[in-house]
Amino acid sequence: MTAELQGGAGPKELIRVRGLHKSFGSLKVLQDIDMTVETGKTVVLIGPSGSGKSTLLRCMNLLETIEQGSITFDGQEIANLTQQAHRIRRDIAMVFQNFELFKHLSAAENIMLAPMKVKGVPRLEAHDRALELLEKVKIPDKADTYPEQLSGGQQQRVAIARALAMDPKAILYDEPTSALDPEMIREVLDVMLELSNAGMTSVVVTHEMSFARRAADHMVFMDKGLIVESCATDQFFDGEVSARTKQFLDQIL
Ligand code: ADP
Ligand code: MG
Repeated sequence: MTAELQGGAGPKELIRVRGLHKSFGSLKVLQDIDMTVETGKTVVLIGPSGSGKSTLLRCMNLLETIEQGSITFDGQEIANLTQQAHRIRRDIAMVFQNFELFKHLSAAENIMLAPMKVKGVPRLEAHDRALELLEKVKIPDKADTYPEQLSGGQQQRVAIARALAMDPKAILYDEPTSALDPEMIREVLDVMLELSNAGMTSVVVTHEMSFARRAADHMVFMDKGLIVESCATDQFFDGEVSARTKQFLDQIL
């Protein structure tokens, strides 16, 4: 939940998806998706494998083109801005299941790369910031370590630090802990929860329901490319939900 007030301006829609349709060939993967993410809030997105969760995040990050509908970010229509995807991705960072770190770069260099290349931040400044961010994700002593010498949980925290290095307005996480051994899941979720509590606007695909209860302001359940349920977290877990949602929750809780 958001701990900080937003200057009395009231809730603001940072990401707004309306009437989104996406197909791969004849396969309709997303159908008439509406979703709103307010500034400073965390939305957790769940659903069975193949329901379209990753595709929806990828559309928001302009990694996929869409056939129909609208995606606005901070008031700007971005769905047709694939030519400017790099600019949009400064503001909407994405964290992947498999970390996707550059293997030939140390942890600090992974974090420094985009600020230096994209924003022209001087090396020393980028390095100082990388050290700060490694502290924030609780691996301050790993700056010079290469990905293969890090545990999965440490690699994912470097990936989160790398996302933060661009000072994004939102972070999209696609099953960030599902490739991790159980004992490492917690350390990654703790970092995500801290960011969420500090007011980082987040969309999280995860089946870690204890995290969802603590971090999410809003829950979305998708099935077969459709949004089945979209409601406040308390309502989702403790209130009335549809039979399909309940069935899915019973499977994973
Ligand atoms: P989820 O993340 O919920 O498991 P995905 O968004 O990855 O679901 O996939 C939704 C559907 O789209 C699945 O049927 C998947 O096979 C299909 N799909 C995903 N990416 C592609 C692609 N690049 N080409 C063809 N089909 C795809
Ligand atoms: Mg997926």
